[in-house]
Amino acid sequence: MANFQTHITAGVLTSGVISTAAMAAAVVTPNEAMFLTIAGTVGSILPDIDLESSKQSRTVFGAFGIFFAFIALFHYSQFLSIAELSLLWLAIYIFIRHFIWRLFNEFTVHRGLFHSFLANAFFGVVGATIFYNFLEKSDTVSWMGGAIIFIGALTHLLLDELYSIDFAGNRVKRSFGTAMKLFDYKKPASAGLMTLVLVGTLYVAPPTNNFVALVKSSDNWAYLRTRLLPEGKWFDLKKLRLNLANSRDEIPRNTGSVD
Ligand SMILES: [Zn+2]
Repeated sequence: MANFQTHITAGVLTSGVISTAAMAAAVVTPNEAMFLTIAGTVGSILPDIDLESSKQSRTVFGAFGIFFAFIALFHYSQFLSIAELSLLWLAIYIFIRHFIWRLFNEFTVHRGLFHSFLANAFFGVVGATIFYNFLEKSDTVSWMGGAIIFIGALTHLLLDELYSIDFAGNRVKRSFGTAMKLFDYKKPASAGLMTLVLVGTLYVAPPTNNFVALVKSSDNWAYLRTRLLPEGKWFDLKKLRLNLANSRDEIPRNTGSVD
């Protein structure tokens, strides 16, 4: 198993690269790219969410606490006083970080349900649904968020699997093959329940057509390929300064909509 630091680093790197590419293709704004990077990083520690009292679990529930506390603030900011808003924020944070966290740990066993491809898909779909319904992100950006959570979580499973290979000793540890699994084979009932919730969530999830069209668009991929490497010198400061001076106009946005 890889440790917390390794998972976070891999998560930041993977989601950072994807978000940068999405921004370069003008699919997301710089703000949304930052948001996607955070989503992917959280995704990269989600599979260990049920590792009781682990840093992962506490960090994830702390992040959820802050996230949902802010969602409540956005909704009520116009209607409540600062004192009420502060109390509400604190109450939601403490409720999720401590109460829900404790409850969650009562009912889960590590390396079970959440350490699987099925769970990764579940995280992605739930994430996209939350972004769309609570943060009012566009369907495309919401699914990008869901996809990056899925990829972050997949990076986690892959790393855990790689760490079960002892490269120095040229042998495979006993844990090999336990990190990457489709679902929790030992608990088919809970995997079935997760599938049901996943399918149920799809009913309130954002529409997928724009996102699918965006991913399928060969123009976008061709454009990304042209943007991959510099045309001339790397980090050409003279050209960079000139371009920055000329780029005061607003950057056009690609919403990925099909019409
Ligand atoms: Zn793990």
